[in-house]
Amino acid sequence: MENNKEQRKWLDDFGLDHPLVIAGPCSAETEEQVLKIAHQLKDTDATVLRAGIWKPRTRPGNFEGVGALGLKWLKKAKEETGMLTTTEVANAHHVDLALENDVDILWIGARTTVSPFIVQDIADALKGTDKTVLVKNPVNPDLSLWLGAVERFHTADIKNLGVIHRGFSAYEKTKYRNNPEWQIAIELQNKFPDLPLILDPSHIAGRRDIIFDLCQTALDLNYDGLMVETHHTPDDAWSDAAQQITPATLVQIMKDLKIRKEVS
Ligand code: PEP
Ligand code: MN
Repeated sequence: MENNKEQRKWLDDFGLDHPLVIAGPCSAETEEQVLKIAHQLKDTDATVLRAGIWKPRTRPGNFEGVGALGLKWLKKAKEETGMLTTTEVANAHHVDLALENDVDILWIGARTTVSPFIVQDIADALKGTDKTVLVKNPVNPDLSLWLGAVERFHTADIKNLGVIHRGFSAYEKTKYRNNPEWQIAIELQNKFPDLPLILDPSHIAGRRDIIFDLCQTALDLNYDGLMVETHHTPDDAWSDAAQQITPATLVQIMKDLKIRKEVS
């Protein structure tokens, strides 16, 4: 895959500032919850509202998302706040539903990036559209798998692309839920400097108290954006409660971060 400034054109087309801030709950839970969080984020640095509606859980028996119903809530949130929206798609059927409901940006989850056949199906379902696709790193620390997924979208002529660094699983317990392994993301950034790189500190941290430090490291490394799980009552969240922060905390974090002004 050649380097290509076209890949980052969507940042300008959507009129997104540096750094791009994507925020919202891990999961859409109810219409009221999605709208409440969207309104709390409306006048902050967050310009894109995230919410998972299909939730690939590692173990069965946990909340697996509200499903297609949540797409209507995202659409309503967009109409009421003017924010762009993004959700995870994990198969071609999800893509069709997300396209029908005007989701602006689609992201590929870490458990999907590991599966070349599914990535290819999703890329084929998106062929001929101008959707923006953000590819999370695979759960395991494998740069090739991450690059391979990006290349499948590129080959399917998806021009608006980006990657999300959400950390890598390891058997040993560390202070992180998923180890950042910054060098993997840096290697990707060196190979494809035009591909927008976004940090997801929430899934790296697994806890709220180190979100700020992770964000600062990413900005120091010249990342293009942040995707931060945000909930109006984080402790009550139906998934990933320990790592979510309130919109007010996000505002404070954005105020405290030192943001590099020069964008290459
Ligand atoms: C999420 O963003 O809520 C999520 C499930 O992420 P990941 O694919 O990084 O685990
Ligand atoms: Mn989550």
